[in-house]
Amino acid sequence: MPQDTAPQDTAPHAAGSAAQADPTARSRELFARAQRVIPGGVNSPVRAFGAVGGTPRFIERAQGALLTDADGREYVDLIGSWGPMILGHAHPQVLAAVQEAAARGFSFGTPSENEVRLAEAIVERIEPVDEVRLVSSGTEATMSAIRLARGCTGRSRVVKFAGCYHGHVDSLLVAAGSGLATFALPDTPGVTGADAADTIVLPYNDAQALEEAFAEHGDSIACVITEACPGNMGIVPPREGFTQLIRRLTRAHGALMISDEVMTGFRVGPAGWYGWESEREGYPDGPADLFTFGKVMGGGFPAAAFGGRAEVMGHLAPAGPVYQAGTLAGNPVATAAGLETLRLTTELDVYSHLETAADALRPAIAEALEREGVAHTIQSANSMFSVFFTDREVRDYEDARSQDTAAYAAFFTAMLDQGVHLPPSAFEVWFLSLAHTPEVIDRIIAALPQAARAAAAAAGTRTGAGA
Ligand SMILES: *Cc1c(COP(=O)(O)O)cnc(C)c1O
Repeated sequence: MPQDTAPQDTAPHAAGSAAQADPTARSRELFARAQRVIPGGVNSPVRAFGAVGGTPRFIERAQGALLTDADGREYVDLIGSWGPMILGHAHPQVLAAVQEAAARGFSFGTPSENEVRLAEAIVERIEPVDEVRLVSSGTEATMSAIRLARGCTGRSRVVKFAGCYHGHVDSLLVAAGSGLATFALPDTPGVTGADAADTIVLPYNDAQALEEAFAEHGDSIACVITEACPGNMGIVPPREGFTQLIRRLTRAHGALMISDEVMTGFRVGPAGWYGWESEREGYPDGPADLFTFGKVMGGGFPAAAFGGRAEVMGHLAPAGPVYQAGTLAGNPVATAAGLETLRLTTELDVYSHLETAADALRPAIAEALEREGVAHTIQSANSMFSVFFTDREVRDYEDARSQDTAAYAAFFTAMLDQGVHLPPSAFEVWFLSLAHTPEVIDRIIAALPQAARAAAAAAGTRTGAGA
């Protein structure tokens, strides 16, 4: 059992004793302090545990597959910084690359060789990408790709799919309007009606809605942006032919297709979802025009990119007229981390390791939930998977939102109490890494029965979205 060796067991175990030391005392104290100086106490909303309850753990250090919190408790990590930590935390070779780069200076504001090497590493892996522009976050990558698509086409409208997340770009923080092919409404205060009015939000995997949107607005659509395989509502793979339908319609109407691989890129395989899907289905109608990357390619540092064919990327300043820039873009330390991470993913055969780990974990999760009668559906993008607390197939955001978030919250808390840190939302991927060895997977599996019982006890007590 994980707890037997974890430091929290140094706390007294007398059941029911009110005087028992609080194993989260230090995290509680830090969270209270944080709430005084940071809105909600966190720098990204999901970290606040709003959807699952309890105190977010303040992490003090991370090594391999393990996190250690401010109270000295250890957790098996299934967040992986939301994707980047594909080699596990503080991989010694990446650490050495970072130290070596930092010793040569932190940021130059001039061109440097690492930028060229990282761009070459991406172009080498993703066949339809001739050129990339490096940026500092996934949000910047999608925001810039949309500007470029608008600049290239001279059109203003963007199509996105409900439940796909592309960062906090104003025009994409929108919800579907009243009719299918009508314009979106702001999904948060601060996004204006004008920002939203140029966006059309459609249900994912809905071929008819997409065809209707193009039939009605085809000549004003600059681009369709889609997650290559959606992972931000949980994993919702494209139905057969859906990605290619986007490709055909965009091409037929003179719009660009943007495939957002910020999460899937360099994670589901060396060439991301593009490589994985093209091996299985092929791309008879061709690949996307623009791709966005982030997460894994920064190795845990702020580095992201967008890229595509030379003729499209050539519209970007200074080669072309579409402005885009960044003080820290191509940062020498971040690019060193990204380069070494990408190099090691192939050198260490990380992808087959992730597949083996996922293949061991998925059936164990299903079995534990099955045994307690907890509704669940596990969906995958190769080794990347998520667990929906519903028994129906999840094809779009409506389906994802039908899951039992109360059951997930109870499951999450019981796992956390046993030293396994899942993502604090039912709508997220469980991120594995090279450091998730069979022993680590066994620690996760050992915690499942108790968590499944907690989920069963809580099932049906609250429904709806909790993302
Ligand atoms: C994480 C993510 C983003 C946003 O990246 P940030 O670095 O958080 O700005 C964009 N698109 C997808 C698909 C993502 O998963």
